[in-house]
Amino acid sequence: MIRCYKTKFKDFIMSSEKYLFIKKVNELTAINTKYQIPFSSVYLDQNDEECILDCMRTAKIGGMGPYSEKCLRFFKTKYGFNYSVLTPSCTDALEMSSILLDFSNDDEIIIPSFSFVSSALPFALRNAHIVFADSMANNPNIDLDRIENLITSKTKAVLVVHYGGYACDINKLISICKKYNLFIIEDAAHCINSFYDSKPLGSFGDFGVFSFHETKNISCGEGGLLVVNNTGYFERAEIIRDKGTNRSDFFLGKVDKYSWVDVGSSFVLSDILAALLYAQLRKIQEIQTHRLTVWNTYKTELEQLEEKGKCRITHVPEFATNNAHLFYIICKNHKERSKLLSYLQIYGINASFHYQSLHSSKYFKAKHDGRELPNSEKYSNCLLRLPISANMGIPEAEFVVKHVLSFYKTI
Ligand SMILES: *Cc1c(COP(=O)(O)O)cnc(C)c1O
Repeated sequence: MIRCYKTKFKDFIMSSEKYLFIKKVNELTAINTKYQIPFSSVYLDQNDEECILDCMRTAKIGGMGPYSEKCLRFFKTKYGFNYSVLTPSCTDALEMSSILLDFSNDDEIIIPSFSFVSSALPFALRNAHIVFADSMANNPNIDLDRIENLITSKTKAVLVVHYGGYACDINKLISICKKYNLFIIEDAAHCINSFYDSKPLGSFGDFGVFSFHETKNISCGEGGLLVVNNTGYFERAEIIRDKGTNRSDFFLGKVDKYSWVDVGSSFVLSDILAALLYAQLRKIQEIQTHRLTVWNTYKTELEQLEEKGKCRITHVPEFATNNAHLFYIICKNHKERSKLLSYLQIYGINASFHYQSLHSSKYFKAKHDGRELPNSEKYSNCLLRLPISANMGIPEAEFVVKHVLSFYKTI
């Protein structure tokens, strides 16, 4: 059986409380490195093991096997993703979209600075000119009201990140991109099972990409999905995925041998990982229910901090849904966030910050055009994510809440 930290949680609370009783709280040393509340953890059980073993026993462990088929069928039935390919990561799915749109040094792309490096990397790799956009003042998502003046005759696409699985204003996005004839790429890495206007995120752009990295809601360790909504690109997507060959046509019997027909790379997910992904997808409702329980506990019990003006907490825009991918607090400043991180660490609570602004990163800062992106910087400096996973329950969430509240009593 797979060991899960959850079974140890009771011991953990007892030992840490006992220890704290003896030791003074303000000594900033981790008191218990054995049992921590991990920042995230994958919800694994025997069903996951069985799917992986089943895949091994059939010996079809390469790509595009039976489990990959099952996953793609799931995405088709549940979300209407009729044209999609599994990839070894979301970064790869983004790279595929960069290749599909033939990005080159003549092209510009607008990307939020407050994102993970993978949102920008595939375009940097193809020498495209990246124009970083700021976030909104009241939400980490890209500020669509201020992207029009970033658009030039060279702009080819806008990439949006639905941060935390909370939708950007899709209608606004689509109307801007229609007006200037721009492609839309949705970095929906956080967005499994999240919707806008009853349609899943990832289904609005020309391409939508998902991540099944171990830190995401549904995980096979490492994995991704490219959803091709602009269906004219699907055939080429299959070629690019498969080393620039028309191997999928060969499997479908459309050609009698396959050969090198285009550029591409090796973007195929092993069926062993697809087996784990399928096992996870089958219990998506259970995973989402557990995550939402933790999220709702945080929301209900930490709201008072916002009311008292101590910090800000996660808000879901009225047009968005909540898939409980993350819960964040926005501290007053960087110093307060560092203090809160260390404070929670004393109790074995692994909180985390998120995203160093990409425009001021070591790699990019000399390439940036000098515009200030104050909101992006603010989230980089002040945003703190609390632990959340389907392995947590109300007691764990309460434990975290208790210590966040006690921190804010000290300052
Ligand atoms: C996690 C993440 C990615 C990268 O996902 P991988 O599957 O690890 O490549 C891309 N974009 C965002 C916004 C992410 O959070």
